[in-house]
Amino acid sequence: MGWGGGGGGMMVGGGPPGGRVGGLPFGGIPSELLEGVKRIEASEPSHAPSDLTFHQIPEGDEAEALTLTRLVTRYPRWLIESSLFVLIASVVVQAGPWLTGYAIDHSLRHAPYHFNILVWCVIGYAAIVLVGGAAQWAQTRTSGRLAAAVMHDLRIRVFAHLQRLSLNFFTEEKAGVLMSRMTSDIENLQQLIQDGIASFATQGLTMVTIVIIMEWQCWQLATITILAVIPALVILSIWFQHASDKGYDRIRDGIAGVLADLSESLHGARIVTANNRQRQNIVVHREVVAEYRNANIFTGNVNAIYGPATLAIGIIGQGLLLGIGGLMVAHGKLSPGVLVAFFLYLNRFFAPIQLLVQQYNSLQSGRASINKLRDLFATEPEVSQSPTAHELPTILGAISFNDVDFGYDSDNLVLRGINLEIHPGESVAFVGPTGAGKSTMAKLVTRFYDPTSGVVSIDGHDLKRVTFSSLRRQLGVVPQEPFLFAGTIRDNLVFARPTATDDEVADAVARVGLTDLVDRLTDGLDTIVHERGQSLSAGERQLLALARAFLAHPRVLVLDEATSNLDLQSETTIERALDAVLENRTAILIAHRLSTAKRADRIVVIDHGTIVEVGSHDELVATDGVYAAMYATWIRQGSAEGLSSEH
Ligand code: ADP
Repeated sequence: MGWGGGGGGMMVGGGPPGGRVGGLPFGGIPSELLEGVKRIEASEPSHAPSDLTFHQIPEGDEAEALTLTRLVTRYPRWLIESSLFVLIASVVVQAGPWLTGYAIDHSLRHAPYHFNILVWCVIGYAAIVLVGGAAQWAQTRTSGRLAAAVMHDLRIRVFAHLQRLSLNFFTEEKAGVLMSRMTSDIENLQQLIQDGIASFATQGLTMVTIVIIMEWQCWQLATITILAVIPALVILSIWFQHASDKGYDRIRDGIAGVLADLSESLHGARIVTANNRQRQNIVVHREVVAEYRNANIFTGNVNAIYGPATLAIGIIGQGLLLGIGGLMVAHGKLSPGVLVAFFLYLNRFFAPIQLLVQQYNSLQSGRASINKLRDLFATEPEVSQSPTAHELPTILGAISFNDVDFGYDSDNLVLRGINLEIHPGESVAFVGPTGAGKSTMAKLVTRFYDPTSGVVSIDGHDLKRVTFSSLRRQLGVVPQEPFLFAGTIRDNLVFARPTATDDEVADAVARVGLTDLVDRLTDGLDTIVHERGQSLSAGERQLLALARAFLAHPRVLVLDEATSNLDLQSETTIERALDAVLENRTAILIAHRLSTAKRADRIVVIDHGTIVEVGSHDELVATDGVYAAMYATWIRQGSAEGLSSEH
């Protein structure tokens, strides 16, 4: 995209509300160009609003395995047209050398020379070249369209698939690797469909046509020539295929490695600088880049052998042709015109091989890419929606854990024997040392993961039996590091409920105490927040996330309290905001501060994956257990420091 900004299309006048496009240096389209732009716009296809529906379980085409054939046969008309043009381009033009031979034998060999035959041959040759050129133009255009359409479908399919996958997939898979699936792998396929397949077909057909014409003209000479060159060519090609396959696998892995490392460094730029890790990062990056370079060098070497070797075979073939063909001409068994035609054909036979090397590379990367994409599609969401899942009716918000065990991998239980009832409207704080399993318990309620054994249910409905959408519609999640999307503050607030009215948005902003901030900003709610909200403070991001949750009116709210040290005033504002958001809702608070835990109706103390104490603040202080000890330390320190550091 150019400077047009996030809208996706070209912007002529107007623009987004507020008239500014995120402060980008784009001053509009100069008036002298406007006419031209309008003309281009008029010729563009209009994109009607999408009526796309998202299915948690893939349906129709999306459920089928990914193959190149399936991809291209979805557009049969373009495929047939393209094949027809390939046929014309490769077969018709092969009449050229035959015409040359004919002209030599019939108009130039013996006086009187028949110039009219020569002229007709020249006209015929020109016509063939024109038809061939036109067919190639039409074919390139059609395969371009086909490739664009196929890639469009594929990109949407990959994206939809990623939306379905569970959280653990994104934890384990590097974002950079996924980006390379979406960019370079899809582009490889595009290249393959646009040029690769058609070129392969053209080259193959050309070679077959040439062999047939040569056999038809003089089968003895044709057979000798073909027997001399083809076996050597086949052996060489089989070697090339093996070596090249190996090289391309390495290249694909290499580029994915480079991108993964790059993306991690970019995302972690702040931490890298803060920890003086630049040098080590360069060392690591140098290693991944070196592997990519070595893979490229290997493939380059393979190509360097194959290209010249085929050329050598071609030259040997021509030598043979000259010797044997020459003898045949001398003995009157072959006309000079046919011999010339043979030379031209042999040249044309070998010319595509050089091209095939390049095309093979694109075929290889295309194939490697389709395999990688197929693997991606084969990844089943670990937490999947059962085909018989029912809609979760409007809930009151009673959450229960029954004998729940859970491990991120089955050998390593992180939660053991959890039994807990949370009543509708109750706020419960999970406290305990870092790594105790607090967030994990919350992730089971939002069904980011399924328990290894036992049942987590809401209002008596086992979470495994309800649809994701009906569950998550009624759940609000405020993560420790709230994620803000690039867009306006309003866009970020209405994220979970796009239908919210302006009044509702303003009310949510007021409830969490953000009105002052919004009033201070030049464009108010339409102020653009930068990606991930880096332009806002940690406290402001938390408040925005709370307002977002408030606006969605969830029955159950899961809130991971920010651990970052907020100043006292921000803390007080957030606590007040929390009171507003939690009113009448069932809430799970992963509390890192005792001041937050204290305000909850009940406190659940978790240690080493088990619940060790449950009760209200006063009850727990009175029982003189783990919580009481934590509280005593807190009081002694006289500050609201994070709980985790006390352990
Ligand atoms: P808490 O929220 O109490 O600090 P967590 O619930 O995040 O603790 O983590 C509990 C344990 O599970 C920790 O030992 C942590 O290392 C482990 N853990 C957390 N997330 C994952 C994950 N995605 N894969 C594997 N182990 C994890």
